[in-house]
Amino acid sequence: MATIYINKSKLFKNLDKISLINPNILAVIKDNAYGHGIITISKLLNEYGIKKACVRNNYEAVFVKEFFEEILIFNPSGAREAKNISYAINSLKQLKKNRHPYIHLKFDTGMHRNGILEEEVEEALNIAMQKNFEIRGVFSHFCCSEETNNDTFIQYEKFKKIKSQIENFCEKKALKKPYFHIANSTALNKLPDTFDYVRPGIAIYGGIDGYEGIMSLVAKTVSVREIENDGVGYNKMFFSKEKIKLSAVDVGYADGIPYFKNGCKLKNTEAVGKISMDYMSVKGEHKEVVVFDDIKEFVKNFDTITYDILVKMSPRIKRVVIG
Ligand SMILES: *Cc1c(COP(=O)(O)O)cnc(C)c1O
Repeated sequence: MATIYINKSKLFKNLDKISLINPNILAVIKDNAYGHGIITISKLLNEYGIKKACVRNNYEAVFVKEFFEEILIFNPSGAREAKNISYAINSLKQLKKNRHPYIHLKFDTGMHRNGILEEEVEEALNIAMQKNFEIRGVFSHFCCSEETNNDTFIQYEKFKKIKSQIENFCEKKALKKPYFHIANSTALNKLPDTFDYVRPGIAIYGGIDGYEGIMSLVAKTVSVREIENDGVGYNKMFFSKEKIKLSAVDVGYADGIPYFKNGCKLKNTEAVGKISMDYMSVKGEHKEVVVFDDIKEFVKNFDTITYDILVKMSPRIKRVVIG
């Protein structure tokens, strides 16, 4: 069986690095902690001292509720009155229908995917007050923070404006002030101020430059053979004139590795031909093969982003914590 190793010391190093920018971390663990294993990662975050996390939906929140003081659900449904669970409010319409008392208001400052509009700030606050909701947090999301253009700064300024509007309102009505958060991973280094909390995902897992990849995928060899003047795998996409040893290892595209038709660079060797559902053929004779130990290198084989590969790593593969 293939194994996914999660490197604890690299994870902690990434968290140390983020903490230098802002020690108040709302760790994003949505989508099975970007494929790393939501329970495995939650335990480690808890050990590190992380108190708050963000998940995708109610289903994920159930698995990790014991590990955090607060869990923010990005796309909540129904009412779950647990005190340590907060619902993100993504529109005025959702706010009107919502029955869960602990909320974070999300504002659209420029991504235009979701969020309450700037001109709806006052109305949103009034509804929240009438309905007796506790506004725990206020946030927004950057569309282009990995770029060097102006969008991030424009969104930052809009968020600052919304922040002061909300703070004024809370002062007037003698309400407790919520905490503010906007910085995802690629915005961490770019903002004059990261506000009360930062909200990184991919930096925690080391899927961007400046942070170390914490996942390695190691496959076991199922069988070894030698071919000469012959091809291997479906449609014999790889053909070798010379005598060559090949190991078939026990991961394939069913496990989340992106489909490839003609080879792929691995950590110390290369896969050849087409990847199969449950196997791939690798040059050389090995007992086991490190498919990758840094997603930033492995992703170069494909026309996609690190997030996309990580998040699809099959939950069936065993997760083992090392380091
Ligand atoms: C996924 C997500 C994040 C984390 O983004 P990264 O680029 O992984 O740091 C932060 N906030 C929201 C709302 C998200 O959906």
